[in-house]
Order: sequence, then structure tokens, then C-alpha cells
Amino acid sequence: MSTHTDAADAPLTVLGGGPAGLATGFYARQQGLDVRLFEAADAVGGNARTLRMGPFRYDTGAHRFHDKNASVTADVKALLGDDLRRIDAPSQICWRGRRIDFPLAPYNLLRSLPVSLLAQISWEQLSIPRVSDDADHFREMALQSYGPTLAELFLLNYTEKLWGADATELSPRVAGDRLEGLDLTTFLLEAFGGTTDKARHLDGSFYYPRHGYGQIAEATADALGRDRIHTGAQITGLSHDGTRIRRVTINDATPVEVERVVSTLPLTLVARLLEPSLPDALRAVADSMRFRHLRLVVLGLDRPRLTPNASLYFPDRAVPFTRLYEPTNRSPDMAPDDQTVVVLERPCHPGSDAWEQSDAALRTQAVTLLTEQGLLDEDEEVVASTHHAVPFAYPILEVGTEEKAERLTSSLERFENLHLLGRSATFTYTHVHTLYARARRLAQHLSSAPQPA
Ligand SMILES: Cc1cc2nc3c(=O)[nH]c(=O)nc-3n(C[C@H](O)[C@H](O)[C@H](O)COP(=O)(O)OP(=O)(O)OC[C@H]3O[C@@H](n4cnc5c(N)ncnc54)[C@H](O)[C@@H]3O)c2cc1C
Repeated sequence: MSTHTDAADAPLTVLGGGPAGLATGFYARQQGLDVRLFEAADAVGGNARTLRMGPFRYDTGAHRFHDKNASVTADVKALLGDDLRRIDAPSQICWRGRRIDFPLAPYNLLRSLPVSLLAQISWEQLSIPRVSDDADHFREMALQSYGPTLAELFLLNYTEKLWGADATELSPRVAGDRLEGLDLTTFLLEAFGGTTDKARHLDGSFYYPRHGYGQIAEATADALGRDRIHTGAQITGLSHDGTRIRRVTINDATPVEVERVVSTLPLTLVARLLEPSLPDALRAVADSMRFRHLRLVVLGLDRPRLTPNASLYFPDRAVPFTRLYEPTNRSPDMAPDDQTVVVLERPCHPGSDAWEQSDAALRTQAVTLLTEQGLLDEDEEVVASTHHAVPFAYPILEVGTEEKAERLTSSLERFENLHLLGRSATFTYTHVHTLYARARRLAQHLSSAPQPA
């Protein structure tokens, strides 16, 4: 690895090889820019990778490619060709032995819930204020938008388990776009007229690559050029002169001079890596921002399928897992014929009992849950199992976090050659298609902007 580069021909330096970093490099190459990318891990893909367990494949958490940006979809289709397929697989909630469509669809609720509960929910739908746009926290938003009964049954319990925080401490933004089907019009239309397209296909239709979600990252890395990607290269320092990033340090050993830098590393990490360091007050802000981590239990099963679903959700607080997904319902190529693979997600705070719990104990909890739910007959069906940790899975959007992220990002704006892009990099709840769209805009901007002197 060279330690010195002439400013004139210096490449664009991209930090991190997850979707945001790879997309930045890919679009920058399309704009004719020279690129080099540094990734700490030994493989690219970040939190959107596909891993192997013998003949089984699974992703680092349940992923789907959303068709929400036509030109990004076209770019990803061009990268993957026929391997990118449209999938129709609905998701469901496991609730007191019943299965309810997710996201919550009024028509399905009407068929699945007892009449007394339905009457209560219907009354609340007509009487709640629906002024959630200015809610101070997630609890207020859920109560105002869905009424206390629906909120308590399905939203508050699941949300608190996923994020590991009280719903009054969470920003309304943690909902993402998951709850958008339950508006009053849809509810009334369905209550009196039957299911609508909006509810039926809210979450069940998406794109998914034949060999797993990580194929998107791998194809993007191929198009960017593998020789431009340096894996096993952890950024351990970011030296600056007050207005520009001058140097990055790789693996505590190798200084590399830089011109323009795109960082997709967690915002809080960038705040800690700067040399000279940020003022104490800003470092304290970074220290107070938290990420939720995930543990995955992966089970290979000697049967063709466990569920017909893309994902199954467990809102019940007593169940340690939030979600199960079955990769074979996204692509049959994820397991051998007549076998399947399932992954259970266990959100944790680092250092907590759940994070420290042994793999064997977590596996037992997973098998017990599947047996109790009537999904699995016996442990003998499990022919393979493994575990995987996904640190920094979700930036925890607590009340006030947006302002903290804003303070940090604006303090970094004084570095004229530093650009931030990515989920953890901007501390926002963004998806892959959005990151690709932003990466393309940034690459266009960088190719047209003059190099800073
Ligand atoms: C369980 C789960 C399910 C999800 N489902 C979906 C979905 O269905 N659809 C969707 O669009 N999105 C989904 N997402 C979100 C998606 O995974 C993220 O938006 C995406 O991975 C963010 O990409 P990124 O490049 O910003 O960050 P990351 O994927 O986190 O990549 C950051 C990269 O930086 C590297 N890095 C970190 N520190 C250093 C360092 N010091 N030096 C060098 N490299 C470093 C990391 O190793 C990593 O490779 C899901 C996420 C999770 C956790």
C-alpha cells in the first residue's frame, strides 16, 4: 500500500465497503473518477452480506430490495441481470397462536381478531386524533395514529423490544415507512368493502437476488473493480489541519495521504478518530449516541419449508426474538432441494446478558420458540446451526438524537474535502436503494466540482 500520493492525481478515498461505500465507488467510476476503498473486514457488503453455512446461505438480517427508485432499480438490475427476481412472499405477525398480515392490514385484522377487540379498534380508529406529525415520541405517535388497543397489541411491545428502549424515549421516526398502510381511509374501505391492493401488497412484493442479498454488494464491488478495494484495512485515525482531512491511518500503522474522502463509517466513530480530537463537548455527544446490535441464530432444516412467509414477527415481549425469516422463500437457491434454512434475530445492547449469552443457550431458545409455535416438530429436524453477530445493526433513534447527529455533522462540515454517506455515517434509518441514489448524486457532484486547492 503506498503511503504517499501526489495531490493532482489523488483518487477519491472511500472509507467502508458496505452498500454506501461500494455504491459511491461504483458511481464515481461511472463518472470517470479514480477510486480507492478501504474496508476493515475481510469481505465487502457491511450489514448487507450473504453468508454460508455448509450448503445453506443466509443474509446478515432479513433483507429485501425495495423498488422505490426507478433508476436505482434499473442500475441494480443491470448489475445482476436475471439473478434479480421479483418476489411475492407476505410477512406475518405471530399473535396468540394466530397469524396476522404484516404490515397491519385492516382487512386481515378484521378476519383475525375477536369481535370485541375489533369493535374497540374500530371505535378508536374513528375517534383518535391522527395528528401524529408533531408527536414528541414514538408512544405518542402510535397512540395518536392507531389508538391504544392496536398500539399496545402490536406496535409498542415490538418497537421497545427491537430498539431496547422505552417508547417514550424513541423518536417517531423509528417506525420508518412500516406503518403507512393503516390510514383511516384504508381502514374504512376495507372494513366495508374488502381488501385493497394497498394493504395486500404493502410489504409482500420486493426484489431479491438469486444467491442472497449480498449479491448486490458483490456485483457492485465487481463493477467498481476489485483491485481498487482494500479489505482488512481498518481506519484507525483521521488526521486534519482544521479545514481538510490530510491523512487516514490504516490498521494503526500505515498513513495514507488523501485528497477527497467519502466516509461511510459510523458518525460516532469518525468523531472519535479525528486527530487533533474534537472538543470534549462534541465527543460527549458522540459517546451518548447508541447503536442496537443483533445476534442471529441460523438453523438448517431437513424439510422443504418451515413457513410460506418472507418474515414472521414476534411482538410478544416474552419472546426474546423479534423476527424469523426464511431465505428460501426469497430465493430457493439459498438451500439444497427439500431442505430449508431459517434465521432468528435477537436485538441486544452490547454488554447486556443477551449479548453475552452463550450460543448454545440462544439456539435452545430458538428451537423452543419454534416448537412452541407449532412450527417445528423436534430438534432432530435441525441438521445444521450457526450464529452470527451483527454489531451496529441499527442507529438507535432516541428523542433528541437527530439534533445530536446534526451537531456532529455540522461540526464536520468544516472539513471541505470530507463527505458523509451511509446509514450509520449519518445516523439515519436509511435503506439500500436510498443509499445508492445518494451515492449517485454525490458522485455526480464530485465529478463536476473542482478539486479543492
Ligand atoms: C437486520 C437488518 C435488516 C435490514 N433490512 C433491509 C432491507 O430489507 N432493505 C434495505 O434496503 N436495507 C435493509 N437494512 C439496512 C441496510 O443493511 C443498511 O442500510 C446498509 O447495510 C447500510 O450500508 P452502509 O454502507 O451505510 O453501512 P454498513 O453496511 O454498516 O457498512 C459499513 C462498512 O464500514 C466498515 N467499517 C466500519 N468501521 C470501519 C473502519 N474503522 N475502517 C474501515 N471500514 C470500517 C464496516 O466493516 C462495513 O463494511 C437492514 C439492516 C439490518 C441490520
